[in-house]
Amino acid sequence: MLTISNLKKTYPNGVKALNGVNLKIGKGMFGLLGPNGAGKSSLMRTIATLQDPDEGAIVFNDLNVLGDKEKMRSMLGYLPQEFGVYPTSSAEDLLNHLAILKGLTDVRVRKETVDRLLELTNLSKHRKKNLGGYSGGMKQRFGIAQALLAHPKIIIVDEPTAGLDPDERDRFHNLLSQIGENVTVILSTHIVSDVSDLCQDMAIINNGRVLVQQSPLLAIEKMKGKVWQKIFDKSEVEGCSSKYKVISMRLTHGKVMMRVYGETLPDNGFVSATPDLEDVYFAHIRSYIQ
Ligand code: ADP
Repeated sequence: MLTISNLKKTYPNGVKALNGVNLKIGKGMFGLLGPNGAGKSSLMRTIATLQDPDEGAIVFNDLNVLGDKEKMRSMLGYLPQEFGVYPTSSAEDLLNHLAILKGLTDVRVRKETVDRLLELTNLSKHRKKNLGGYSGGMKQRFGIAQALLAHPKIIIVDEPTAGLDPDERDRFHNLLSQIGENVTVILSTHIVSDVSDLCQDMAIINNGRVLVQQSPLLAIEKMKGKVWQKIFDKSEVEGCSSKYKVISMRLTHGKVMMRVYGETLPDNGFVSATPDLEDVYFAHIRSYIQ
């Protein structure tokens, strides 16, 4: 269990990136969902012991993380948002090199580990290829392979699917969910479907604060009977955002499908809609649910 208490961070330019974050994260896949600038990376870097908070505590099982960063690092796999690779190195060579840095000094054990991770991330057949020639998805899978080198108990992945095509994204999702069966995986993302596809627990974060922590299924269940939809002509849409608690507006066949939040049926021919995680997300981000 990872327990985060009252974490605060203000950058020198005055931006309050973390404003009293509290979370309890157990085994399995945990989604940290929020818009750009919400504070996700600041939180991920703090848990990964790469930056200090101004206030607050992080405890992983019995370990005081901020008091013993080395110990935390030995249990941690981290895939940062910007993952740089040596373009002229092959996957096999770089993984082998990183394994040595991680303390895997026994040649046989190291070879077994490298082989197993290349296999797991489906990169075995590209092991000799230079990383500079890898696609975005292959680089991300290589990032996971390096994050898994030292049998981590906790894995942090920051915005991993941005820029991946749908096939690569599916492959990456499958890999993460396989890993998430045994350890804690924290997946930070602004993509709602990453969380609905993968995570059994999640938090929505905005302006450095946790708005809600709940299982996605329960959060959706609680939205039942509170989401309504109606198709408008484009010309009718103006003014709607002041009249209704608008969750989303989508173009469909040249018209606008509007979804709104409300405890009771709004006027003008709205019908009840089946809620999804995107409804939950926007209802919280737009403070319709406090
Ligand atoms: P997210 O990962 O959710 O996009 P970040 O944690 O990167 O959010 O950023 C939260 C806020 O802190 C943003 O307003 C961002 O501009 C600001 N910020 C992030 N890193 C720094 C930094 N090193 N110095 C100053 N401001 C920063």
